[in-house]
Amino acid sequence: IPRQKTVFRFAPSPNGPLHLGHALSAILNRDMAASAGGRFLLRIEDIDLTRCTPEFEAGIYVDLEWLAIEWERPVRRQSEHFADYQAALQRLIGLGLAYPAFMTRGETKTRVVAAEANGVPWPRDPDGSPVYPPDDRERAESDRQKLLASGVKHAWRLDMGKALEAAGTPLSWVETGDGNRGLIAANPQAWGDVILSRSDAPSSYHLSVVLDDALQEVTHVVRGLDLFHSTSVHRLLQTLLGLPAPVYHHHRLITDEDGRKLSKSRSDTGLAELRERGLLPADILRLVGL
Ligand code: GLU
Repeated sequence: IPRQKTVFRFAPSPNGPLHLGHALSAILNRDMAASAGGRFLLRIEDIDLTRCTPEFEAGIYVDLEWLAIEWERPVRRQSEHFADYQAALQRLIGLGLAYPAFMTRGETKTRVVAAEANGVPWPRDPDGSPVYPPDDRERAESDRQKLLASGVKHAWRLDMGKALEAAGTPLSWVETGDGNRGLIAANPQAWGDVILSRSDAPSSYHLSVVLDDALQEVTHVVRGLDLFHSTSVHRLLQTLLGLPAPVYHHHRLITDEDGRKLSKSRSDTGLAELRERGLLPADILRLVGL
């Protein structure tokens, strides 16, 4: 029996310059792939066409080359595969697990503010964002059809209750990260009705990441601890779509001197900025604690 080759990937979004946290992620993926005799892929996660730019994408290649990181080509660009994500969405709709969501961000916010002004705490997802209101899920079918026929812009959301029921068995994943190794119980419920496709993009992060990891036969997902809780959603979608479960390794985050997670808007920890200030790749290794 041929042993399946391990496949690792680094999957940045070109919506800002890469920073030290990305360097840690890319280097860990490259090194773990090398020591397992596996493959290392680079994937460009650019479904958000309003925030992703060719300049940021070009910057990713320059930064990785500077760090002497080599990846397989061609690179998969999510914006070139919307049809794959749409097909998966259609399957979930066909299974009765997704519904059109018409509320704008502003309308959702108004709802949350009004509830909390009345002393009713609104449920938050693990990232701290309010979960999507139940209105669209509970909408009468005739009303829903009327809205769809009117051509009004809308998203698609997963009906979390029905999805959990359809998935059946308790969900879990194998975690190999430093924090809590072992079998982790997935708890997607806390996320509420997660978004599958946006009104301004025909997919969502959750849907496309799950599809691509399967299509690219990724066996090991190595990424930052900020995405630890998202893995619950990913395991649910993988189960519903009959996709294999990779092993997950969530690595420590690089924080600034105040202990905050690095962000793409801060240029002082950007790799390009550090390079311009004369730092060398060896300095980057030291700065990320490798
Ligand atoms: N594209 C995501 C990001 O830039 C990472 C996705 C992943 O590794 O699953 O944060």
